[in-house]
Amino acid sequence: MTHGSQNAWVHGGLLLVGDAAHAGRADGQGANIAFEDAAVLGALVRQNGLGHKAFAAWEEVRQPRVRDILWDPKPDGATRSALIQNSAFEQLWCPLRVAAALPAGVRQEVQEAVARGGVEAGRQVVINWSQRAIRELVEAKAPIASGSNLALDPHYRFWPELLLGVSVR
Ligand SMILES: Cc1cc2nc3c(=O)[nH]c(=O)nc-3n(C[C@H](O)[C@H](O)[C@H](O)COP(=O)(O)OP(=O)(O)OC[C@H]3O[C@@H](n4cnc5c(N)ncnc54)[C@H](O)[C@@H]3O)c2cc1C
Repeated sequence: MTHGSQNAWVHGGLLLVGDAAHAGRADGQGANIAFEDAAVLGALVRQNGLGHKAFAAWEEVRQPRVRDILWDPKPDGATRSALIQNSAFEQLWCPLRVAAALPAGVRQEVQEAVARGGVEAGRQVVINWSQRAIRELVEAKAPIASGSNLALDPHYRFWPELLLGVSVR
């Protein structure tokens, strides 16, 4: 990978993503980072249009994160672990825009939460909804005995909002 330098991943109208831009060791993050690349790129293209502005912004936000996850300078991997745990997706979506595509009841709940407690409160309603929805899907595929204590990892979430209008930073 050539990283840390401007235009390392952007060549005119050509953009490298995933392993093509930053193949690393096969240690469990390459695919995750490739998915992130796609999500962040989609957000920036929606914001800036398809072209150099979006590509340059993408390279700027992605290079430090990818570098520190794939090539953590700390021997114990502390930088990398913190970055993986602290996904940056929250910055990419606005709960009110997401709510427009959600069921009416949830939409109203989000709007009320934002009015009462601001964007973070609205985000939490969307996250709770996404966790309920994914649980229902999982249970429908693999019925779980009633009363089960199945606890979904809080990091499992739907991100339909990434398909919608979003803002970065
Ligand atoms: C053994 C191993 C274990 C791994 N384990 C994990 C893991 O647990 N978790 C994790 O997150 N990551 C893991 N990775 C890394 C992960 O697989 C990659 O980072 C990820 O697949 C990169 O996705 P990509 O879409 O960028 O590239 P790829 O998945 O390589 O996709 C590129 C695609 O382009 C196709 N292609 C190539 N050349 C051409 C061409 N000329 N024309 C048309 N198509 C072409 C290829 O056939 C391929 O389908 C592992 C990798 C390896 C090798």
